[in-house]
Amino acid sequence: MKNLQTYSFKGKKALVRVDFNVPLDSDYNITDDTRIRAALPTINKILSDGGAVILMSHLGRPKDGPEEKFSLKHLVNHLSELLEMPVAFASNCVGEPAEQAASTLQMGGVLLLENLRFHKEEEAGDKAFAGELAKLGDVYVNDAFGTAHRAHASTTIVAEFFPNDKMFGLLLAGEIESVDKVMTSAERPLTAIMGGAKVSSKISIITNLLDKVDHIIIGGGMSYTFAKAQGGSVGSSLVEDDYLDTANRILEEAKEKGVQIHLPEDTVAGDAFNDDANKQTCDTMQIPDGWMGLDIGPKTEAAYADVIRSSKTILWNGPMGVFEMESFQHGTQSVALSIAGATKNGAFSLIGGGDSVAAINKFQLDDRVSYVSTGGGALLEYMEGKELPGIKAIRG
Ligand code: AMP
Repeated sequence: MKNLQTYSFKGKKALVRVDFNVPLDSDYNITDDTRIRAALPTINKILSDGGAVILMSHLGRPKDGPEEKFSLKHLVNHLSELLEMPVAFASNCVGEPAEQAASTLQMGGVLLLENLRFHKEEEAGDKAFAGELAKLGDVYVNDAFGTAHRAHASTTIVAEFFPNDKMFGLLLAGEIESVDKVMTSAERPLTAIMGGAKVSSKISIITNLLDKVDHIIIGGGMSYTFAKAQGGSVGSSLVEDDYLDTANRILEEAKEKGVQIHLPEDTVAGDAFNDDANKQTCDTMQIPDGWMGLDIGPKTEAAYADVIRSSKTILWNGPMGVFEMESFQHGTQSVALSIAGATKNGAFSLIGGGDSVAAINKFQLDDRVSYVSTGGGALLEYMEGKELPGIKAIRG
């Protein structure tokens, strides 16, 4: 496998799949450029070698061909400012405009192609379309973890056209290295903290983790399905009645495999699902009728802090409560602080999956953990133990 860091791009045109799927306001201003900035190290490495960069990405979910609001041309000026150099734009990612722009691109130059998803062939993983893209470059680099779980033309199929010149970008390589540090070569004890709304969406991950971890800490809405399955009264908390057996099966399997599952002993319950609700702290197994569990309680926070503090590797996916509401954010903040503390003491911590990333950012602790994944769905599938097509296409 080729390595971007040691590969020489001198005299080569690199076709780079990036994730420039950034939010735009109604005037097409970029409201969060994190994803663009995340791709700069890869772009700069290619340029500093004396190569040229052809960037391809999707933006939004265009339904049927080109749409102004999903055009990548809105990113050109900002990208140009970040790179401190002009950036050329091709009004189509394939065909005459792309080929013309790619062939006139000078070494040291950057070209951005129009939105890949203006062509339905992209998501269909069409081989001929991938071949059209492949024509544009001499070497293929995938730096988009967010789409690595999709066998799209630009993320997977295109790699077939570069059997000897395909590699991960620096961002994607970093993501893979961090996830592998947790999933395949973790220092023990390894603790997974699972939260969020529902058991159903995390079942496959929890099941896969049972073969790998020492502790699983459970929080968030899914706690109440476990509590009810164990015979508790959970008031009007979020419960998935179809998953009571599954919850019990997970607990049994954990016991057989020697994995300690930690469930919240106490709960902060509200009498309504809003920030101004009345609150009380109660036993998670005895939530009064008319009350719903919306956060973990103080005893649970202390117990979870102990487990986290004694861990050497920590994976966090999903909040401990409705952290978007100030009244019910304390448990999530406490867990985030415990992770930051463990990290300071030498543990490796990986934060991933939508809402825990939002939470760690909200509490401004993102620079006090080891790695915050940009993965979303791709990370979840990786944690489920699936082989991601975008990664396989390069690793083989
Ligand atoms: P997920 O996408 O499954 O990780 O779920 C994240 C969402 O779960 C967040 O928006 C939280 O507000 C929500 N959540 C966390 N705890 C609870 C709870 N006890 N009851 C209802 N929703 C919750």
